[in-house]
Parts: sequence; structure tokens; C-alpha cells
Amino acid sequence: MKVDVLVVGAGPTGLTAAIECLRHGLSVRLVDVRAQRAEGSKALVVHARTMEAFHAMGVAEAIRAAGIPFSALNVFPDARPPAIRVSLDREFDWGDTEFPYWLSTPQADVEGCLEDRLHALGGQVDWAQGLLDLRQGDDGVHAELTGGTCHARWLVGCDGGRSTVRERLGIPMQRRQDGQLFVLADVLTRDGFPEDEGRVYRSRKGLTLIVPMPEPQRFRLIAHLPGCAEPPVLNANFVEQLVLDRTGIALGTHGVGWTSHVELSHGQSEAVRRGDAFLAGDAAHLHSPVGGQGLNAGVQDAHDLVWKLAAAKRGVTKWLDSYEVERSVLGGRLVRAVTLATRVMTLRRPIPWAVTARVARLALSRRVVRRQLTRRMGMLEQRLPPGPGIDRTPWAGRRLPNPWIDGQRMHDRVDRLRPGILELPEGGVAVVRPDRVVVGRYSSAAAIPQRILELIPDSV
Ligand SMILES: Cc1cc2nc3c(=O)[nH]c(=O)nc-3n(C[C@H](O)[C@H](O)[C@H](O)COP(=O)(O)OP(=O)(O)OC[C@H]3O[C@@H](n4cnc5c(N)ncnc54)[C@H](O)[C@@H]3O)c2cc1C
Repeated sequence: MKVDVLVVGAGPTGLTAAIECLRHGLSVRLVDVRAQRAEGSKALVVHARTMEAFHAMGVAEAIRAAGIPFSALNVFPDARPPAIRVSLDREFDWGDTEFPYWLSTPQADVEGCLEDRLHALGGQVDWAQGLLDLRQGDDGVHAELTGGTCHARWLVGCDGGRSTVRERLGIPMQRRQDGQLFVLADVLTRDGFPEDEGRVYRSRKGLTLIVPMPEPQRFRLIAHLPGCAEPPVLNANFVEQLVLDRTGIALGTHGVGWTSHVELSHGQSEAVRRGDAFLAGDAAHLHSPVGGQGLNAGVQDAHDLVWKLAAAKRGVTKWLDSYEVERSVLGGRLVRAVTLATRVMTLRRPIPWAVTARVARLALSRRVVRRQLTRRMGMLEQRLPPGPGIDRTPWAGRRLPNPWIDGQRMHDRVDRLRPGILELPEGGVAVVRPDRVVVGRYSSAAAIPQRILELIPDSV
């Protein structure tokens, strides 16, 4: 079998990659070693920047319908009232995004919506087809799968934290175990518990997060169990006692659905590309679930990579160099930020715990801090480094602002398939990529440097 792109792994990253291939006119095969989709709800929060990618992919409405936006996050930095209420709904100044919320949607539902979109575009997942080995030649990648071979111009490894693709490419990932155990449980609670507000309790007994889920009265409990080597049995009694002990709340737990545990580890692959093979998602970066960034980062990796593969097929190969530079920097920043946040949130020694609790109360009581934090977690403030695909002008590397202009959002003026030149309402032009990142901003089209024009031959 011969295709443009072989995508290995049908989690959120691989499904996004396959959808994007079809949208960009690349032939694709998507394989997964599992016999069928995993049912666990795993990741829960879809952030604004990811919804912007889903909008371009034509799946945002379905995912919005499957989820519930948080209206607030109540943070108890020292596990005691009063909470600092971080409002996330209309009261909150989200700025210019069309998706002003954190959307609680179980990963299985996100994957279900993505798979429906894949089918609508004529694609499918080849289940029970594991990648066993791969070999690179002048003409692309030869892959050995459980059920035969596949030859692809490019291969994208979206096969998760224990990636076979990464291992076969010989790309190291230093995984650091933190020796910390987190348990996760989807629980049914009593009537009257606020349905759409999250809670974060930073107790010395352990960090506890209670996150609303789309189904009425169902919440996700995420709890750090310090000093616990083996995961306990997560039944209703255990959950009820743990929450009461740490937060003083009687949840009224009367049903426990999906449960799991995570032994925290973090790491970043030393590269995201070897020749014609690429890594995306957990295969490239791993960290704790605090902040709900894992699924979001994987979707964005794949959304970014595939338009670059499509450009390479049209003969503009330089964009592929930018994938390596940009994703390595973003992946590194993400792993460091989440690891630091997790360490601060799980501190237990009395003095550092008390000091950071005090600092958190002071900082979070400031509106400007709450806004920055929320937009950063929504991934709206990312800045890509200058490099092969980013110039050094104002706005370069940033997300294109998305105000309303004459009844239309600015992002809807951007070509969803190819990078191109966008006239700005205030004058001048910007070169903008299909992932709505600004390559550079210039006084006029005539002022765009030659090296940037070479990246957008279709627009000149
Ligand atoms: C219990 C748990 C809770 C989590 N909670 C959160 C959370 O609250 N928030 C958050 O943001 N993140 C969370 N995460 C992390 C999040 O689920 C991941 O970041 C996300 O799934 C990454 O997506 P991915 O597609 O890159 O990898 P995965 O979802 O791991 O998908 C990889 C796919 O590759 C397939 N595969 C593996 N090897 C092969 C092979 N050799 N050949 C073919 N296919 C292969 C696997 O079967 C799998 O389907 C959680 C993870 C776990 C395990």
C-alpha cells in the first residue's frame, strides 16, 4: 500500500492528523494497535486555542455540543475558605476568542467526534494494526504493520508516551518519574452541587481537583495521594471520605464510573523529526494532567504539522524545518511549566506550602493575573520563536488577533489550507499561516522580504 502519510496511533493527536491530511488533499492511512477505541474518559478540558483548530477542521460545533463550559474555578490555595473565584464566563474578559471558555468534554467523546469527522471526510481508522518496525529510504518510509507493509512519503508517530515510532527512530526521551501518584474517578454526586464550577483544594494532605462533567451531577475527581505507592480501590466510600477529609464537602457520592491512576512522569523527546518521520502529541512530550494541557498540545502539534506536509508536497519543503524548531521549543516550555506548576501545587512541607499559599492568594486576587493565567492555560498567549517559518517583525509568532470586522471574524478571513497574505483593517499586511499564526507583519505587500515570499509562492 502506498500513501502520502501514514499516521500511527488513533488517539486525539492521530485522529487530528488524519482529518487534516484529508482536508489538505493528502492520501492517508491511520492505524492503531488497539482492537477498538479506548472507553476511558482520560483528559477532560478542551481549551480555546484547540477549539480554534477544531473550528478550522469543521468539528468545533460537535465538540461544543458534547461538552459543558465551566463558569468558574474556585481555588482554595490553603484548602480553607474563602475561595478565590476565577470566573470563566461572561464576567471574564477573554479577549477576542470565539470560544471563550474551558470546555469539559471527556477524551472519549472528543475522539468520537473526531472519528465521525474522519468518516465524513471519507477516512477510517484501521484498528488492530500495530506498527512493528520502520525503515527510511530515499522515497519515504517503509512501515511493517501487524497485517502487512505500508509505504508512505511521510510517517507521523502519534502513538503516545511509550511510542514505538520514537523508539524505532532512535530518538531518546528522558522520562523522569516523580514518584507521585494521582487517582482519577468520574463520580455521581448529590443534587444541588454546583453543576458547572470547578474546585481546586491545595491541602497538605494532597491536591484535590473537582471538575464538572457534561452529564448532570457527574464530576471528575483528581486527587494526589502523597506517599502512596499502590493505587487504592476507588469505590464510593473511599471517594466520599477523601473529599470530606480534604475539603469538608459531603459530595453525596452515590456512583463511581470510570477510574484510573497516573504515576507522574515528565519528559520531552530529544527531537520531533528524523528524515521523513515526525513525532506529535504524547510521543513528543509528557507531563502531569494538572492544567489539562496534554490532549490540547497533541491536537495542535498535528494541526500544525499537516499543512506543512501539504506545502512540502507542493514543493515548499522549508516549512517542515519550522515544525522541528517550533515544536521543540513549545514542547520544552510546556513540560517545564506544567512540571513546575505540579510541584508547587503538591508541596507539603509546612513553610514552603504556607508561603506559596499566601503568594497564590495575593496573586489570584488580582484581575490581571487571573486573566493572564486563564488565557495562558487556554494557550492563547503562545509565542513561537523566530526561525524558518517566523520572521522578527511585530506580532510574528503570535496568534492572529480575532476581532469582528464587518460582521466577520478576522480568523474567518484566513485561508484554512495555505499560508498567505492578509490585509489588515488598520493598514498594512500580515503573512498568516493556516494555523492562524502570524509569520510577519509589514507596511505593504511590497515590503515582504524575499525569503518570506519564497514560503508563499501561491500568494504572489
Ligand atoms: C488516566 C489518564 C488521565 C489523563 N488526564 C488528563 C487530563 O485530565 N488532561 C489532559 O490534558 N491530559 C490528560 N491525560 C493525558 C492525555 O490523555 C494525553 O495527553 C492524550 O491522550 C495524548 O494524546 P495522543 O493522541 O498523543 O496519545 P494517546 O491518547 O496515548 O494515543 C496513542 C494511540 O497510539 C496507539 N498506539 C500505541 N502504540 C502503537 C503502535 N505501535 N502501533 C499503532 N498504534 C499504537 C494507542 O493504542 C493509542 O490509541 C491523561 C492521561 C491518562 C492516561
